Amino acid sequence: MEKFRSFDEIKKSLENKETNCKAIVNHYLKNIETKAHLNAFVEVYGPSALKQAEAIDTKIENGKAGKLAGMVVGIKDVLCYQGNTANASSKILEGFESQFTATAIQRLIDEDAIIIGRLNCDEFGMGSSNENSVHGKVLNPVDESRVPGGSSGGSAVAVKANLCTVSLGTDTGGSVRQPAAFTGVIGIKPTYSRVSRFGLIAYASSFDTIGVFSNNVEDNALVLETMAGPDDYDSTSSRKPVPAYSGLLHFDKPAKIAYLKETVHSEAVQPEIKQHTLNVLEKLKNEGHEVEEVNFPLLDYVLPTYYILTTAEASSNLSRFDGVKYGYRSPNAHNLESMYKLSRSEGFGEEVKRRIMLGTFVLSASYYDAYFTKAQKVRRLIKGFTEDLLTKFDYIVLPTTPSTAFKFGEHSNDPVAMYLEDLFTVQASVSGVPSISIPNGKDKEGLPIGLQIMANSFKEAELYAFANYLTRSGINE
Ligand code: GLN
Repeated sequence: MEKFRSFDEIKKSLENKETNCKAIVNHYLKNIETKAHLNAFVEVYGPSALKQAEAIDTKIENGKAGKLAGMVVGIKDVLCYQGNTANASSKILEGFESQFTATAIQRLIDEDAIIIGRLNCDEFGMGSSNENSVHGKVLNPVDESRVPGGSSGGSAVAVKANLCTVSLGTDTGGSVRQPAAFTGVIGIKPTYSRVSRFGLIAYASSFDTIGVFSNNVEDNALVLETMAGPDDYDSTSSRKPVPAYSGLLHFDKPAKIAYLKETVHSEAVQPEIKQHTLNVLEKLKNEGHEVEEVNFPLLDYVLPTYYILTTAEASSNLSRFDGVKYGYRSPNAHNLESMYKLSRSEGFGEEVKRRIMLGTFVLSASYYDAYFTKAQKVRRLIKGFTEDLLTKFDYIVLPTTPSTAFKFGEHSNDPVAMYLEDLFTVQASVSGVPSISIPNGKDKEGLPIGLQIMANSFKEAELYAFANYLTRSGINE
């Protein structure tokens, strides 16, 4: 059996003095080296991680260690960690060094988690396959000819391949849940505003959330409860108190569950995914839960709403990268204007440029009302519908993705086919509600299938308890 796949195992080994933090870090460093071809890590903080480990070992001896002592964490390349490079997997941030540490990371470090390295992703979080990265593609360890999903592909692979205990990703429209589904791990997108965005390189600020990848529900809950909560550096972070999720995993009441007809029975869904989702619903019914089919007439509008609003926000957020203040500056520039133009043209990748142009278009004076304002109104409708449904029902259950992991290059020349990958994940993003993906068996080719569960805003505790109940009932085998 592989060692150190859960924090519980790590904690027990530390308590029994069978191991120490330094040995744990060395174990993961060795795995990272052996599996370097997966291209999950773009930078490994070997020496600093070992130094951190030694310091924590001393704290353990003195009985002063934090609650995450021994947990080894990988971070997506869009999160700032002071003194280290952050690229957002883009050439435009070449050589950029973080001036401060993201609040989410700092809170883990304060509890003695060890940061082991920076993880590959799609450029600025834009993509569903991790093929849009200046650091090259990431391989799915389940089948190396296939994508790991995106944009947090490196984060999902690092957990799946046992290169760290847990990892941080970000989810704007599915970037934690979809790669979790494609690799067979657990991934949560918390409620928007639950985790501070301070130190997160922005893609679409009204959607961006920092999420967690793990091999089990307990670890996920523990990490989220540690990093969530109000932060003076992010005025949008919620002031609501954070429950201790990891102590609330017991699930023993009958639940009311809705499933969306248009998702489960969609033509776009791979038959095995449909079957596995229906099997779970049947099982829930047999176990005494109330399961009801509901219509989701707005499904067709969710993806366009997401892509109009996120490209608009991206075009604004990414205007700061102009060759003056950060990262890459074109050596071919001969005056101020050409410096802006060339730095941006040479620094951004194809997909990012496509989105900046789309976003600039939808925000332009003549089209603003037709696209941006309209999409804001539709967002309101989708959010209203979703929240209403989640007051009548405890959970909405649906597949995480329409298909299992696809082959490299399969959607590369067709952006719309790539965007359709997000069909089922964007509803929670547009609505701001929390959503988790858990493994739900495998298809004929042995590729993992993801089951997605949504709950109402700030109901992460309920979401984890239900996910725990489902994973323990063996659906993921
Ligand atoms: N695939 C989606 C996109 O490209 C989601 C990205 C994300 O969540 N960061 O926008």
